[in-house]
Amino acid sequence: LDEARRTNGSGLVKFDPESGARHAAARRIEADLWHALGRDELRLFYQPQVRLSDGKIIGAEALLRWRHPELGFVSPQVFVEIAEANGFIEQLGAWAMLQACRDAMTFRPDLAVAVNVSPLQLQRGDIVATVRQALRQTGLRPDRLQIEITESTFLNPSDEMLGKLSDLKALGVSIALDDFGTGYSSFGYLARFPLDKIKVDQMFVRTLIDNKASQAIVQSVKTLCRGLGIAMICEGIETEAEAAILRRIGCEQGQGYLFGRPQPAEDLIRLADGENVPLAVAAQA
Ligand code: C2E
Ligand code: MG
Ligand code: MG
Repeated sequence: LDEARRTNGSGLVKFDPESGARHAAARRIEADLWHALGRDELRLFYQPQVRLSDGKIIGAEALLRWRHPELGFVSPQVFVEIAEANGFIEQLGAWAMLQACRDAMTFRPDLAVAVNVSPLQLQRGDIVATVRQALRQTGLRPDRLQIEITESTFLNPSDEMLGKLSDLKALGVSIALDDFGTGYSSFGYLARFPLDKIKVDQMFVRTLIDNKASQAIVQSVKTLCRGLGIAMICEGIETEAEAAILRRIGCEQGQGYLFGRPQPAEDLIRLADGENVPLAVAAQA
């Protein structure tokens, strides 16, 4: 029935046991997700964001992790979509915002924290109140908080949403556009909305070495960012060769397995503190 509702045209779909099992799993995840917060099964992991010139950590992106007691690790790509469909994303998003600000207070004070915000939180929820409360409750400096929104946020742009983004900026929080180049890439909203950073999607980094077109695209996004006076970061950097090309293009910031996987806050703190060890001490160790 679910498949048929989603299918255009006749609305007729033949039952197949595999999709039946998939749907049963999705329903199970949906039912359990409501309890996951109360049962303390959700965590935020942090992936370092670095300055490409020297690899120094400048901040970290908060990424949700859910360890289901029976199903094991469930990907955020799966449960965030379910949470968006059933409305739980507002609670989940508010929890992530508060937890990320709390964790960031234990990071080196020069590090920023980036938090993903679903389009639904911007459309329906009171994201401004959520952010204001998280900042007030934790005492995090607003300029250390960055909000990541995706292009799909702009599929149904409204004055109300523009108002919310402006209010967030007025709080002193910055805004990054995530997964740039994968969705509905219209230039219209770049001029209309107060963005501070573009995150080039990993798809372009993945094909950087073999595909001249990807290099050209990243290069022009760099030119675009320079013109707009905003920052650019490339996601999904896995090899030194990719980092080298990006440095040559003039990309200043990067994120990816080459610099660090998403990890518990304690590990990120240790990683960042390791950078501060004076050279003489490091040599003795
Ligand atoms: P995203 O925001 O674009 O996050 C980047 C994803 O790329 C993360 O996947 C990260 O683990 C992965 N990644 C980072 N570096 C590399 C790399 O070098 N190679 C490869 N292959 N992958 C890399 P993850 O953690 O599975 O998250 C997937 C998506 O789930 C996120 O994409 C984001 O859209 C969503 N998500 C995660 N946490 C939250 C959250 O708190 N709120 C909302 N609304 N969405 C979230
Ligand atoms: Mg993100
Ligand atoms: Mg992304």
